[in-house]
Amino acid sequence: MLYTKPLARLIEELEKLPGVGPKSSQRLAFHLVKQPLQSVQNLAQALIQAKEQIKFCSVCSNLSADDPCDICRATNRDQTTICVIAEPKDLVALERTKEYKGTYHVLGGLISPLDGIGPEQLKIKELLGRLQDGTVTEVILAINPTVEGEATTLYLGRLLRPMGVKVTRIAFGLPIGGDLEYADELTLVKALEGRREVA
Ligand code: ZN
Repeated sequence: MLYTKPLARLIEELEKLPGVGPKSSQRLAFHLVKQPLQSVQNLAQALIQAKEQIKFCSVCSNLSADDPCDICRATNRDQTTICVIAEPKDLVALERTKEYKGTYHVLGGLISPLDGIGPEQLKIKELLGRLQDGTVTEVILAINPTVEGEATTLYLGRLLRPMGVKVTRIAFGLPIGGDLEYADELTLVKALEGRREVA
């Protein structure tokens, strides 16, 4: 037994988090137990509150405490353009640029046959539903240029083009396999500006 039981349990739980290895979980655990009870309670409450209150927006599938989310409800957003992204974190990256004024649609993943993820596991049906009333004129695919990302972009291009909307993809100034999340704001602004129609 290296650690007393409650400490071992804390380390074990922290280690389940993405990007946290044995070393970091140990460091975090030691840090936490040294903090005043109040700050640890604040952290625990924030965790539980976030989990309890955050749901998916029924329109765009973004994480939100309100349904529809702030962006879907905003009257100053351009309702004719939907930017399609894989995960909520990509929305955060694009919002940071302050350049994009349209709405979003979060797929909740990418097509990946090896992992058993097909189009039906993603929020594609919901996306098609948003194109029915003719308000939307352009769908921008802002999907990372990985193998799965390319498969998803191709699939969506083929599916959406016959629906009479312009389908574009952002121009990645990123290397193949690059990640939206880690692109700096200027790169993302350029990528949005340089978007081109999906062939
Ligand atoms: Zn929404």
